[in-house]
Amino acid sequence: MATPNPEFYKEIAENGGAGVTMCFQCGTCTAGCPSSKETAYKTRKAMRMAQLGLKDELLNSDDIWQCTTCYTCEERCPRGVPIVDTVVAIRNIAVKNGKMYDAHKKTATNLVKYGHTVAINDDVKAQRAKLGLPEVPPTLLADDAALADFKKIISKVGFDKLVE
Ligand code: SF4
Ligand code: SF4
Repeated sequence: MATPNPEFYKEIAENGGAGVTMCFQCGTCTAGCPSSKETAYKTRKAMRMAQLGLKDELLNSDDIWQCTTCYTCEERCPRGVPIVDTVVAIRNIAVKNGKMYDAHKKTATNLVKYGHTVAINDDVKAQRAKLGLPEVPPTLLADDAALADFKKIISKVGFDKLVE
């Protein structure tokens, strides 16, 4: 049986999810959540697990990574619960514990490598050329010095280590 862990709730609170205590479990968030319709993730349940500090259950499941951060739930929540901040807090704690959902890891790795969350490839280059655009957009992708500076910042804040 899952064991409530007030210490983990405190950790969530310190990372921006303190307001989750205001949730009174009405379920309005789950009813409007696009991810809750398509996946095992259920917003109301996640908020309750955060209140109880169910660390192992939250960190060892992929559910918390299914939120798209669309904010529909927050617009509708009658209690003003910072739902997305709570989800992000749990994800940040998960990453610090060495757990990151594969799709997010791929996106973060692209950012570290290319300065963009989506890497450019030959298909995209061909599409751009067809539209009369430069094959490589005038961003970090086309500016080695700017990309090097960007990588220094990423390294300074330790983001590259988190993604590894
Ligand atoms: S809508 Fe707000 S109060 Fe209702 S269950 Fe969701 S987070 Fe809790
Ligand atoms: S922000 Fe996340 S939890 Fe809220 S409705 Fe969108 S996908 Fe669901």
